[in-house]
Amino acid sequence: MSNKKIIIAIDGYSSTGKSTVARQLAKALGYIYVDTGAMYRAVTLYAMQHNFISQSHFDQEALEHSLPLINIKFEINSESGIAEVLLNDRNVEREIRTLNVSRLVSPVAAISRVRKKLVEQQQLMGKDGGIVMDGRDIGTVVFPEAKLKLFMTATAKDRAERRYKELLERGEKVTYEDVLKNVVNRDHIDSTRKDSPLRQAKDAIMIDNSNLTLKEQFDQILKITRESIARS
Ligand code: C5P
Repeated sequence: MSNKKIIIAIDGYSSTGKSTVARQLAKALGYIYVDTGAMYRAVTLYAMQHNFISQSHFDQEALEHSLPLINIKFEINSESGIAEVLLNDRNVEREIRTLNVSRLVSPVAAISRVRKKLVEQQQLMGKDGGIVMDGRDIGTVVFPEAKLKLFMTATAKDRAERRYKELLERGEKVTYEDVLKNVVNRDHIDSTRKDSPLRQAKDAIMIDNSNLTLKEQFDQILKITRESIARS
């Protein structure tokens, strides 16, 4: 079997469990995991903190001008072993997961200059392989040559239920209806934007996990991955 360290691209709709499976896969293979959604969320948090964006306005130009001042890095949490996102050297892992950030992230992610900056950084992180990266455009734009591409989907209802439970567990006061609306709205903006819209790469394997347990899904994906590594 080949020991080659490949690039694994995981794309798909909001709240399909991409990050859970990407993290499990990276751990099993000894690869690095990069959550690109966290990077777009961190830029959005910066825009919120500087009053560039709210539910009622968006000063896109001000955000574009500030892009050189935005520095995004990951650091491993020594207790959990999970990479957490730093915005200008401050750990913002918790803040970027709120529904408020989820509500504003898709318009921010639609801006070409934002995408250009983050895609360049993502390409650098993955240049030596041995990486599992999840997002919306990994198999189509960031690493079109990735050896393995997965495209995750599930019904909007299943996805919203999972995300709703997660937010409640984190102590956020949200309603299921708000979460469902956000999931559907983000998918719409992400799939219809001009630059790098969310779509399944031609050579991606579709995983519909509506009726799969986490273990069934992981076993299925690990098998596909080992076959892909063996072929490479
Ligand atoms: O993956 P997550 O749900 O955290 O991503 C948040 C948002 O960031 C997505 O809804 C999308 O607008 C944007 N995103 C993107 N391209 C990526 C990753 C995320 O546009 N590669």
